[in-house]
Amino acid sequence: MRFYSTNRQCPDASLEEAVMTGLAPDGGLYMPLHIPEIPRAFFNNIGEMTIANIAYVVANTILGDDIDSAQLNSIVNDTFSFDIPLRKIENNIYALELFHGPTLAFKDVGARFLARIISHYASKITEDVNVLVATSGDSGGAVANGFHNVSGVKVFVLYPENSLTEMQKQQFTSLGGNIYPIAVKGTFDNCQFLVKTAFNDTELRKSMLLTSANSINICRLLPQMFYYFYGFAQLSELNVDLENVVVSVPCGNLGNLTAGLLAKKMGLPVKRFIAANNKNNVFANYLVNGKFVPRRSTRTIAPGMDVGNPSNFSRILDMFDNDYNAISELIKGYSYKDEEIKETLIDTYSINSYLLDPHGATAFRALKDDMKDGEVGIFLETAHPSKMARIMKDATGVEFKTFNNTGTKHSSSIPRISSSYDSLKKILLSTT
Ligand SMILES: *Cc1c(COP(=O)(O)O)cnc(C)c1O
Repeated sequence: MRFYSTNRQCPDASLEEAVMTGLAPDGGLYMPLHIPEIPRAFFNNIGEMTIANIAYVVANTILGDDIDSAQLNSIVNDTFSFDIPLRKIENNIYALELFHGPTLAFKDVGARFLARIISHYASKITEDVNVLVATSGDSGGAVANGFHNVSGVKVFVLYPENSLTEMQKQQFTSLGGNIYPIAVKGTFDNCQFLVKTAFNDTELRKSMLLTSANSINICRLLPQMFYYFYGFAQLSELNVDLENVVVSVPCGNLGNLTAGLLAKKMGLPVKRFIAANNKNNVFANYLVNGKFVPRRSTRTIAPGMDVGNPSNFSRILDMFDNDYNAISELIKGYSYKDEEIKETLIDTYSINSYLLDPHGATAFRALKDDMKDGEVGIFLETAHPSKMARIMKDATGVEFKTFNNTGTKHSSSIPRISSSYDSLKKILLSTT
């Protein structure tokens, strides 16, 4: 497969180039040059397949020319050391539980696959690969966990110093070894901006091999297609009409939604999508009025979605040739305030005896507000509620076991930097 840049100002890249550079040299995001369709026959017995079986078919269809099948098979089997069950919440509504991975967040899927692809290529070169990741909550832990002790790889995790939960922070600050946390005095948007600046620093890039583990990296995005297929596979076992399925996605940087759109292009019969935002509703607004106006993010009780300038928007535009009508016909946007998300948590716990997390709650609510008669809905449950212990206790009274702080790297040993780029550059150059 060849990959083009959404800015179209640089040559197409191989899989290796696209993965090992993250962002294209012209600042654009890589996309597959064409999106191959999976033959219809694949859907005939999809219900009997495991997540790893399905992931292998999808991965092989798109990356089969780049990585040999035995290797690809072992990569997807290593990635899915856990299941992604579909749970019925009420009539015609199902949660796809993406949070059974090691850090209890859906980002484990993308991060584990990406780590294995990077390590596949890193083993062929002598230079160290430096992975940069900005995290609003869950990416840091998932990426750090996926790459911990992978030789030839160093991981720098940039996080906003005040907005992560203790558990989220501990997942990447306690590992040590090849994982380097960096606290940023600012928001996730500042972290994301620093990472982008590093990628555009040609001088830095001459002195070190730099790649991204955010969903700007195409190999973090592609594996997120697998579970959309697996969700449909589980529905087919329940004899649900697969032509009438609506999927609701809790959105931040729009990686998950973009993967769903790619899955549809590969032949998954998703009828339509719902994009659920919290108060940071830049994308939901775009779907309503056609205007994309990035702005500073504000803090909410669903912090994985606190994004003011979603990086995958350009991929979505590109997939639809900038056709706003086509995009807004297929995707409906909703946005909810914290109080509404909390209300959904409480109601669903008391009525359905199901404990949502605030991200999943946003998607569940949008689905309930938008589903039409005869449709079946799946929403993505992206984090385990225990990751949001304080909010969950506050909203529902449910307490999760207090989380054990031992092993936390002493916070004074973690560098704290301002949101100006020079301090980041200094750290990168002194560590490598
Ligand atoms: C990152 C994250 C999201 C948003 O996903 P995107 O792919 O960035 O849109 C939703 N929920 C949780 C729990 C997250 O960590």
